[in-house]
Amino acid sequence: MSARFFYAHGEFCASHPWEVIVATITLTACMLTVDQQHPAPPPKPVIRFCTGCLHEAEYNAADVIVMTIIRCLAVLYCYYHFCKLHKLGSKYILSVAGLFTVFSSFIFTTTVLNILRMNVTDLKDALFFFLLLIDLSKAAMLAQFALNASSKTEVKNNIAKGMSVLGPTITLDTVVETLVIGVGTLSGVHRLEMLSCFACLSVLVNYVVFMTFYPACLSLILELSRATSIYAKKQCILSKAFREEDHKSNPVVQRVKVIMSAGLMLVHAHSRWPFREGDSDDAGSLIVDQHMTLNRTEDTALHGYIMKWVTLSADHIVILILLLALVVKFIFFENREEFTEKIRASTSESLEKNSSESFCINQNLNDKFPPEIPVYKPSEKFFLGKSDIDEKSDKSSVSEVELEDKAIQTSRYDLNEQNLLSENNEENVKNSCRTLEECLAIYNDFDLGAVALNDEEVILLVKHKHIATYQLEKALDNPERGVKIRRKIVSNEANSLKALTGLPFRNYDYSKVMGACCENVIGYMPVPVGYAGPLLLDGRELYVPMATTEGCLVASTNRGCRTLKQSGVISSIVGDGMTRGPVVRFPSISKASAAMKWMESPSNFALMKEKFDASSRFARLTRILIRIAGRYLFIRFVAKTGDAMGMNMLSKGTELSLKFVQQEFPDMEIMSLSGNFCTDKKPAAVNWIEGRGKSVVCEAIISAKIVTSILKTNVHALVDVNYSKNMIGSAMAGSIGGFNAHAANIVTAIFIATGQDPAQNVGSSNCMTLMEPWGESGEDLYMSCTMPSIEIGTVGGGTVLPAQAACLEMLGVKGANHDNPGENANQLARIVCGMVLAGELSLMAALAAGHLVKSHLRHNRSTTVLPENLNLDTRIATEDNFLRPPCKDV
Ligand code: NAP
Repeated sequence: MSARFFYAHGEFCASHPWEVIVATITLTACMLTVDQQHPAPPPKPVIRFCTGCLHEAEYNAADVIVMTIIRCLAVLYCYYHFCKLHKLGSKYILSVAGLFTVFSSFIFTTTVLNILRMNVTDLKDALFFFLLLIDLSKAAMLAQFALNASSKTEVKNNIAKGMSVLGPTITLDTVVETLVIGVGTLSGVHRLEMLSCFACLSVLVNYVVFMTFYPACLSLILELSRATSIYAKKQCILSKAFREEDHKSNPVVQRVKVIMSAGLMLVHAHSRWPFREGDSDDAGSLIVDQHMTLNRTEDTALHGYIMKWVTLSADHIVILILLLALVVKFIFFENREEFTEKIRASTSESLEKNSSESFCINQNLNDKFPPEIPVYKPSEKFFLGKSDIDEKSDKSSVSEVELEDKAIQTSRYDLNEQNLLSENNEENVKNSCRTLEECLAIYNDFDLGAVALNDEEVILLVKHKHIATYQLEKALDNPERGVKIRRKIVSNEANSLKALTGLPFRNYDYSKVMGACCENVIGYMPVPVGYAGPLLLDGRELYVPMATTEGCLVASTNRGCRTLKQSGVISSIVGDGMTRGPVVRFPSISKASAAMKWMESPSNFALMKEKFDASSRFARLTRILIRIAGRYLFIRFVAKTGDAMGMNMLSKGTELSLKFVQQEFPDMEIMSLSGNFCTDKKPAAVNWIEGRGKSVVCEAIISAKIVTSILKTNVHALVDVNYSKNMIGSAMAGSIGGFNAHAANIVTAIFIATGQDPAQNVGSSNCMTLMEPWGESGEDLYMSCTMPSIEIGTVGGGTVLPAQAACLEMLGVKGANHDNPGENANQLARIVCGMVLAGELSLMAALAAGHLVKSHLRHNRSTTVLPENLNLDTRIATEDNFLRPPCKDV
């Protein structure tokens, strides 16, 4: 029951953070103004602790020492709390805890000043008591609950869940604490009474802030940060903290607390009511005391001020020294000491057994404390092995180091991998591993976790299913180490330790890969990237990156670009619309056709569009194309998707829109969100006819002179071959969208270089290449490429990976175009089409020239001397300076 109440309360605070924060701050502001409406009574000097102000007895050394000790304790206690939070490794937890403390102390101060009507000088003691009683562990626990969420929507649920788990215990604790400390206010000793009073207030303020401002603030910070990676990053560490049962208090203890608080309530009730008169007497005596003390103050004003200054300075100096020492310790020594100690303690036993363990420690330390040069140094240590000398770390220039690092990642790879593999031998495993139970205990230890285990021990936990293989990166909080261990597991399972030797994995930004581009990562595939160009496209010269393993493709395309350099290529975007085509089923054809008509009506389409458009800032539904097959409907949603290729965006919008249609037609069955009428990654006439993604057309006029000088052929031959091959040949083959020589070659190479989904080369390579004689005499060449379905984007998918983003940058189309969303993706589509035109021209010329050679051979053998065993392809290469060896795609 109480848990449910706290859940609802937590949910409210998390989902209305602004309201709760504003309400809390307003209440605090109200408290501040109470004072102005009702003038405060004269100060009660007897409740002052300020040394040097009033009473001689208060100057005594014992008092100063006790208060200084209390202040130091408060500072140390706070420091201890922050260190504990820092161990969690989350800057978010640390900052929310800091915010919590600052806000709580602000409310506390306000309350002390305005509700208790005390003097500012009382605050210097009150605040230290407040710090001494503040318990940040509760705040940290709730923050852990929140940070454990894997998505933003989960944050709210987790805060509510955290409140339901922590709320009842904290409430009961607060009641008990207040009552216990409240006993001090009955002591009759003024000092003790005041201290207890401050303490009670501190506990209550802490509680109120924890229940209102804090959850709201937590939810707001996580929402505003929009750094979704923090959820994933910290999940492994926090998952251990997230076990609800760990935070639920023991029911027996709870019951004892309830009984205790009931008893204490009785004590309070009994002690306060019967002695009201005495209280008033006390009050009278306070006033007398006050007058006496004031008189004394006047007499000794000068002396008092001097003493006050002196004693305060002594206090301040002690606290200041302590604070400075702590700050220095925290900044310069804390992290290393703690983690070194931690890891040393956890690995000390096995360390002594063999030298390979020192490698593990280095590795663990490196994982936790990246050296100053982040990319280079750790890999250097790892690559060169424990005996090798870290010569390269002396390099002064970071850029130099980075370049070299990238250069060695494959050339030195064998050596590195050998080191890795030697670590992996059976004997090492036996010697270095602790028992499963020990490993599990370390893994489950909140302060240690998988980070403190060596690789073999992590593998042991994976084998016993305590860590899922796909979650290694999260469990270790270190993507590269996760990938390294997964490689070891795969190598072992594949029974071939050298299987992955040639596949690099170091120095890659896996944070961009995780949860976005690839799972179960064991490395990355280096593909050679060449450039072709400059391509003169719409008046701009472009150098275009192409990732391929097909020799001569880049050279051939480059020749095409050279041919087009004088005339240039003109491009035009004639269509823009990514598609998703779900299949839905109705009980009968009449219902299916009724639904079809309903959706085709402009007013209903507008409603569907409204739902669709609400799913994204950029996706905009432009039309739907519906086809009926019996009682099935295939609805092709077409939408503009800004700079993104848009498949995920389309899926999201289509689902929302379909759900809306389903409200109108409850018997409509959504069979599949993709009914292959999209059509994605499969050859289909619908894309060729209707278009998909960007529809682009390019044209160029090449003079006869250039055709002869660069392409070594003539316009007539080119037009002839194009007609025979790309028109008649493709028709004979029953091709759909394949009226070209090798558009897919260029499309795929650019797609891989720029982080596109390579499987979409299927539809994107649809192309018709046309050639005609041009000019009055028909000596020049007119050429065009029509590509109706280039599925492309500069945002999302693989475009975020560093190497791919660099290639997009090279073309000036990296990321989103903020001024004109969609323009970057359009420009990239134009570039693809322009490059296809260049590639088509070059290959067709090679074929035409080969055809000529062949004619020469047939008809003029006496003048051509060629080796007998030279085949046609090689002859093309001989004729052509650029094609060596010739493309296979002829
Ligand atoms: P996405 O990364 O899923 O979505 C694009 C994101 O970028 C959206 O969140 C969008 O904001 C945001 N964005 C920021 N600026 C933008 C701008 N100027 N223009 C457009 N969006 C902008 O990318 P996607 O293109 O939809 O999907 C690509 C991924 O889908 C690839 O990884 C691909 O391999 C994969 N894929 C999926 C399917 C499928 O069936 N789901 C099929 C094929 C491929 P909003 O949140 O406001 O929209």
